[in-house]
Formats: sequence, structure tokens, C-alpha cells
Amino acid sequence: MTDFTMTTDGDGVATITWDVAAKSMNVMSTAAFGLLSDLVDQALADAAVKGIIITSGKKDFAGGMDLNVIAEMRAGGAQTIFDGVMTMHKVLRKIELAGMDPKTKKGGKPIVAALPGTALGIGLELPLSCHRIIAADNPKAKIGLPEIMVGIFPGAGGTTRLVRKMGAMMAAPFLLEGKLSDPKSAKAAGLIDEVVAPDQLLARAKEWVLAAKDADLVKPWDDKGYKMPGGAPYNPAGFMTFVGASAMVLGKTMGVYPAAKALLSAVYEGALVPFDVALRIEARWFTSVLLNPSSSAMIRSLFINKEALEKGANRPSVADQSVKKLGVIGAGMMGAGIAYVAALTGIEVVLIDAAQESADRGKAHSADLLDKGIQRRKVTAEKKTEVLDRILATTDYAALAGCDLVVEAVFEDPKVKAEVTAKVEAAVGAECIYASNTSTLPISMLAKASARPEQFIGIHFFSPVDKMNLVEIIRGKQTGDVAVAKALDFVRAIRKTPIVVNDARFFYANRCIIPYINEGIRMVAEGVEPALIENAAKLVGMPLGPLQLVDETSIDLGVKIAKATKAAMGEAYPDGAVDVVLFWMADQGRMGRKSNSGFYAYDSAGKREDLWEGLAAQYPHGSDPELTTVQHRLLMAQVLEAVRALEDGVLTDIREGDVGAILGWGFAPWSGGPFSWLDIIGAPRAVEICEKLVAGFGARFEAPALLREMAAKGESFYGRFAAQKAA
Ligand code: NAD
Repeated sequence: MTDFTMTTDGDGVATITWDVAAKSMNVMSTAAFGLLSDLVDQALADAAVKGIIITSGKKDFAGGMDLNVIAEMRAGGAQTIFDGVMTMHKVLRKIELAGMDPKTKKGGKPIVAALPGTALGIGLELPLSCHRIIAADNPKAKIGLPEIMVGIFPGAGGTTRLVRKMGAMMAAPFLLEGKLSDPKSAKAAGLIDEVVAPDQLLARAKEWVLAAKDADLVKPWDDKGYKMPGGAPYNPAGFMTFVGASAMVLGKTMGVYPAAKALLSAVYEGALVPFDVALRIEARWFTSVLLNPSSSAMIRSLFINKEALEKGANRPSVADQSVKKLGVIGAGMMGAGIAYVAALTGIEVVLIDAAQESADRGKAHSADLLDKGIQRRKVTAEKKTEVLDRILATTDYAALAGCDLVVEAVFEDPKVKAEVTAKVEAAVGAECIYASNTSTLPISMLAKASARPEQFIGIHFFSPVDKMNLVEIIRGKQTGDVAVAKALDFVRAIRKTPIVVNDARFFYANRCIIPYINEGIRMVAEGVEPALIENAAKLVGMPLGPLQLVDETSIDLGVKIAKATKAAMGEAYPDGAVDVVLFWMADQGRMGRKSNSGFYAYDSAGKREDLWEGLAAQYPHGSDPELTTVQHRLLMAQVLEAVRALEDGVLTDIREGDVGAILGWGFAPWSGGPFSWLDIIGAPRAVEICEKLVAGFGARFEAPALLREMAAKGESFYGRFAAQKAA
């Protein structure tokens, strides 16, 4: 184990260097923590050592805890987790007290953290226990505590130290939102102490160590008369902060994220007691969160599996297919967005539309987004010129020569799409891969217009392209491996998350989200109070209620999809009850947000107000069902569709089903996704809920055979399908 090594120079400054072999980013393991502890002991005991620098041998400091450690701790149960966390606290507290006399607070050795780049999670909690944090001026570096994003919270003293250092109010964005900052902003916020030129980092750290006085080593909370910045809970100012924070957190999370509640409790209870007791309290809450199934499901989907998919877990093993020159046909809302995200990451783009004016408008979308970036100081004027220079806006298909990937985003009309396919194939080389961004048309059907169907694929972006991170890659019946690899390499280059699905109506995401919207609308028709429908969805962790969602995506689009689906399905079409409401809304001219009127009312500036009162006149309020019944209907509508997509072979990997659901349509992130949610409640309970819903509301809630089989065998999705993958 050489994760940490130590050298001491002639001036008595020991440098402990963190450098995990065979990893591009340092992550902390239990063994490495032990080694760090031994080296600190050695340095503190060595009379020749005057002070210590803790730094990294890599360009970054650390990415955080090795998540396998967390999994191991969890497997050991509550006592193992608590003991493991307390061991970490002990080591970090030893660094903080640095051998000083407990009474006089004199005689300690200065310990400084020197961060060359990114420092996340434990990579910041360790520096927070040091006496000074100096970071290199590296604008790419990210500094912060992102734990809350994956369903846990900083549990190695980060919570307790940050609140005592900054006060609860100032620490809130870092702890509760996982806000990350570059070094200069981190310094301005008081997260770190100093930013220096990268080549001065170690020299400055050494200078500080050699000049440090006893008083520089004593943390405010170890000093007499310490008062928490902004006030402790039972102080007029602090009281406001804590009451406000509770209300804000519950308002934002609707109480479904156990980590957010536990974090607040650790902060509040910790603020009432001495520092070392606060650390124990933090450890207890951390243990409780780690044992909550939501945290393991979130880590699995939002961290481990998301990353695995981004790294090509389902990529066919063919040679590198990096995109060098991209063609985009159709410079409307989607095409313009696709051109922007590609050019931003260095890909040359030819953006074609039927009229030059439309092509130019598409390119102007990039200019607008870059201007916004300049306003927020995220983009320089040079960068803007560079990105725009990569986009050629034209009507001339000859400009596509040399493109290795073309993405079509013209009108959703098979005839128009077929014409475009023929024109593109006449202009590009034989190797070029052709992708359609269609949201509803089957890829295998569109591929009929292609002379090279094995090179024809679906690459389905979500709107707005620059913000939405999921991309669905659709394999048509004849799509070949090179096309899949090309699509995956493209998605990776533009830093989005891919899922690969097989061809079927609405692919995966839209297939699941439509029944959610429809279930909400069905309830309106039944006379369920619309506010109950919307709030039930939010209280189970959906970012938008079904009625708000249909307002956002527009009611005429819903009507269009309903008509097309009915035409395709004929007698079997199941959603007539939904259409009655939807078509009536469209007849009233209430098209959703874009017409400033929908299931909600909007003011003249387009701000959403209350649910529209006219609904009650058309669909009189009956007796309201239980909250959980509404929630079960809304969740099961989506989840059962995900299970059917797996049964049908549209999904081939439950990891894609879970990650795709959270990133694609915001499916209750606390649950880790639809399959994780089913695993949390268990297949037998899921079948029981389905049976109740079938009895009350119809056959659409029939439990799929796969779920019944799993209930009978006592299986879980991650148990059953992980085993298949390993076989
Ligand atoms: P849009 O109407 O904003 O843009 C379509 C563009 O294609 C227009 O600029 C039009 O001038 C151009 N065009 C039409 N025929 C053309 C031709 N023959 N040659 C060149 N250009 C042509 O539409 P959009 O919302 O960007 O959707 C484009 C595609 O993306 C559709 O297939 C749609 O289903 C799909 N899609 C849309 C969304 C969404 O939320 N809007 C999401 C995912 C996928």
C-alpha cells in the first residue's frame, strides 16, 4: 500500500503525498486512511519534523471516498459503520489537534493541505481538519462536498466542521445542494484559505508551515468563547436560520430524501453540543443514512451505474469511433441544440436547413447560449468565436462531404425524413453513420429509406439539448455494431449519459412518461381534486406533477401523439378516457404553457399560477382517494411500463432503465429508479399493490409476468439481473 508516502526535507518539513497507484484520481480507502494515520503519528513523534504538508502526486487532490468502502461498511451493519466513521473522526481530529497540549493549546505542529486541483468529499473533509488550506489557481478544479447528490451527506467531519467554520446559513449551499466551486470562488466563500499560482503551491505551503505560530493552529471551535457564525439554534439570529432551513429543505425535497433530513438533524443537534460530541452525532446520523435503502439505490444509479454507462458498459467492442465531423440536418429547436453541444466539445459541425435563414437562426442559438455563458463568466469571448467558427450553417448538402456522423432533426414526418436520408447518403462517404433524432417514429421503418440500414440508428436527445443529460440510442432491426459504437462515442464526447434500447413505439423514456401523464389526466376526469394529484406526485419525489408536465410539453403535442397512437393501435387503444379531457382542453384553446393557459392558469408574463378553476366546472369534485392510492397509481403507471419494456427486450439492462428514468424524466431520484424502487418495496408487495389497483382502476395495472415470477421466487431485479450479467 503506497497510497500515501512521506518525505522530510532539510528544513524539517514533512510532505505526505497522496498518489493512488493505477488510478487517475485519488480515492480514499480504509487501508489508506490507516496509512495516513501512521504517517501523521510518525511525523508528530519525530523531533526533526517541524510541520507537515499534505498534498497529491496527481493533478487533482482527490475525488472522494472509494464507494466500495461505503458498500463494505454498509454490509457490516450499524455498529461497523459507526465504528468505521468514528475511526476516521479520530484520525482527522488527531491532525486538527496536531500534538498540541490540550490545556495550553501550545506545541502542536502546523499541518497544511496543498491542493493542486479538484478536492471533493473526503478530499475536502481531510483539508478541513488541517490548519490551513491552500489551493493552486486552477480554474478547472472543483472544490466541495457533493455527497448529498448521491443520497448521503459529508460524514467524515465535513458537516460539523463546515457549519462551525462558516455558520449554518453560509454552509447550506455546500452541504444541502452539494455546490462545487473553483478555487477562487471557494476562497471567496471561506471554504479554503488561500489561492496561489500552481508553481508556487508547495513553496507557499512550506513558507506557511515554517512561519505558523501556536495560535494559528487552534481552530475557532477549540478556542475559549467560540460562537457559531450566524448564531447557534437558541439565539435570535440562529433561530431564524434553523427554522428557515428546515422549511426550505422540506419545501425543496418534500421530505423524501433521508439524507437531507439527517444532515439537518446532524447540524442542528451538533450545534447544541461541544465539538467532539457533535462529531459523534454526525456519525450516528451518517450511519442511519447509510442503512437507508434510498442511499444505496441512489449511489448505485447516480454514481456507479451512470459512470459505467458513460464509460461504455454496453458498447460493442469495435475500434474507436470518435466523431470528427458532424452533420446536423434541421436547424430547429433540436438540431440547433445538437450543433451547439457538439461544437462546444470541439467537433466540427455542418448545420443544414431548407432555407439559409433557418440555418442561420439555428447557429444563432449557439451564439445566444455562449453569450449567456459570457454573462455568467463561464465563457470567454475567444471561446465563443472558437465554438461558432466550428459551425457552418448552410443549405448545401455538398458541405457534408467528410462527415462521419449525420444527425437528422427535421419535421416529425416520415416522408420528409425519407427525402433527407436519400439526399444525405448521396452527399456523404460510404462509411458515414446516419442517425435520426425522431421521438416517435420507429427507427426500423425510417431505415427503409436508407441504402445502408446497418449504418442507420436512432440518437434521441431530450429538450432542451444543452441541459438534458440523457441520450437514448435506438438500435433498429438492422442497425450494426459500428453504428452503436459511433453513437456511444459521440454521446461520450459531448459528455452526456447514453442508454441503448431496442426499437419500439416511444422507445423507453416516452413510453413510461406518457402513462404517468395519462394517469394524472384520468384522475381529473374521475373528479379527483387536481391539487391532490399534483401534490401526491411531488410528495413521492417527482419533480413535476403530471398536469404541470403536460402543460410544459404542450397539450396539442399530447393530442397529436394520442391521435397517432390511436391510428396505429386501432381497437386496442386504451386511453379514450384521457383523450376526452385532453381534446376538450385543446378545444378550449388551452395548449399549456406556450398559450399561457392549460391545466394551470398563467399570468400575462407567463408565470404559472394556480390550477385552472375551469376544471372543476367541467369535472366536478367527487370524493378524494387516499394520498397513497394516488401515489401508487402515478408510480405504477410508469414502473409497470419499465418492467414491460424489459420483458419486451426494449430495455436490455436494468441499469439503463434506472439511470434513464432519473435523467430522462426525473423519476423519483431518491428511489434510484423504477427497478430500484421495486427492489426497495419487494416484488411481493409490488404485486399486491397491482392487484388492488386492478380491482379499483382497471387492467392496465396488471402485474407483468416477470414481476409475478420474481414475487413467487423471492427475487429482486438487481439480484436476478446482476447474476445474469456476471454469468
Ligand atoms: P422544429 O420544427 O423546431 O425544427 C425542424 C427543423 O427542420 C426546421 O428548422 C425546419 O426548417 C427543418 N426542416 C424541415 N424539413 C427540412 C428539410 N427537408 N431539409 C432541411 N431542413 C428541414 O422541430 P424540433 O422540435 O427541433 O424536432 C426535430 C425532430 O426532433 C423531430 O423529429 C422531433 O420529433 C424530434 N424531437 C423533438 C423533441 C422536442 O422536444 N421538440 C425532443 C426529441 C426529439
